[in-house]
Amino acid sequence: MYVGILGATGAVGQKFIRLLQNHPWFKIAALGASHRSAGKKYKDAANWIEDVALPDYIAEMTVANCDPAEFGNVDFVFSGLDSSVAGEIEGAFAKAGIPVISNAKNYRMDPTVPLLVPEVNPDHIELIKTQTFTEDGSGWIVTNPNCVAVPLSLALKPIYDAFGIEAMVVTTMQAISGAGYPGVPSMDILGNVVPFISGEEPKIAPETQKLLGKLDRGTLKTPGYPVQATCTRVPTLNGHMAAVTVKLANKPSSIKEVKEVVLTFENPIAHLELPFAPKEVIKLHEEERFPQPRLHADHENGMQLHMGRLREAEVFDLSFVCMAHNTIRGAAGGAILNAELLVKKGYME
Ligand code: NAP
Repeated sequence: MYVGILGATGAVGQKFIRLLQNHPWFKIAALGASHRSAGKKYKDAANWIEDVALPDYIAEMTVANCDPAEFGNVDFVFSGLDSSVAGEIEGAFAKAGIPVISNAKNYRMDPTVPLLVPEVNPDHIELIKTQTFTEDGSGWIVTNPNCVAVPLSLALKPIYDAFGIEAMVVTTMQAISGAGYPGVPSMDILGNVVPFISGEEPKIAPETQKLLGKLDRGTLKTPGYPVQATCTRVPTLNGHMAAVTVKLANKPSSIKEVKEVVLTFENPIAHLELPFAPKEVIKLHEEERFPQPRLHADHENGMQLHMGRLREAEVFDLSFVCMAHNTIRGAAGGAILNAELLVKKGYME
């Protein structure tokens, strides 16, 4: 299939280009960015920050405006657009009959738009049928969550299904690559922790709860437990970590029972054998000093969720940490997995 990338010059756009090299199903056919980049060769428009060489055929491609009329023939587009423009541009592509797989926040909470992590809520893709961008249903939007909602939802899924959740307190330690490029000023982050990330905390409750929601006759029923979130920026490069404490609705008999639930999590997409799917979705670490972003964020091509420090809590019931690669599992890689699921389920035909 021929794919386009909106926001191709940005940090997430570059990750798409890198991850899609040699993809067995998808070939990059168009690159879009702002009027500042449009008309230039990609190598002149983008400040390439990936640690592999820019592929020659991408370097020579001309960047287009993010206008469906100028975009050539693509089967669908990935979007790594800045949220200040993603709403309008992604809507225009969907209205032009071009499916959009987006990383931006603009449509995440739209009740007709699936907010998707394939191992958590693959059935939510049915919501696509309720979208009205085109009369024939050819244009639609699917989003992936905020980069820290991804590890949280993957870690919470088996626990929520087995025991229910009544309250959650979470503190995140988010890597600098989450702020795009050039991102956080070095004077702010070197040897430091910044205890606030603008706009991040209010996304955690609604996004993780939408992901854990159950579809009931076309309507999503979402949990409404209170969440106290503190999001911090720490001087790691990749891998967002979160320290979580939850109050459970039904108390487990022991920590061993919780571990068993996590270890026997039934991955609902395992049988589909999607190219970007990790073989072991949740890696539960027993060593108390693990997981660590530098040691584990790249495991299973950056698509694995790491959990550790699973223990009884002094307040509430259960504490743990979770961590995943923010620009791969939490952004471009997650979006590619979403696209693979949608292809396999026949939504791209
Ligand atoms: P970024 O590095 O700032 O890149 C933004 C992209 O948007 C660039 O390609 C830019 O093109 C393009 N753009 C800006 N204004 C435009 C306009 N008026 N018309 C068309 N294109 C325009 O940002 P990023 O970190 O890659 O993030 C991209 C999106 O993904 C954001 O919505 C972000 O919230 C989301 N996200 C990021 C992460 C992460 O870990 N970084 C994780 C999950 C989700 P020019 O180069 O031409 O300006």
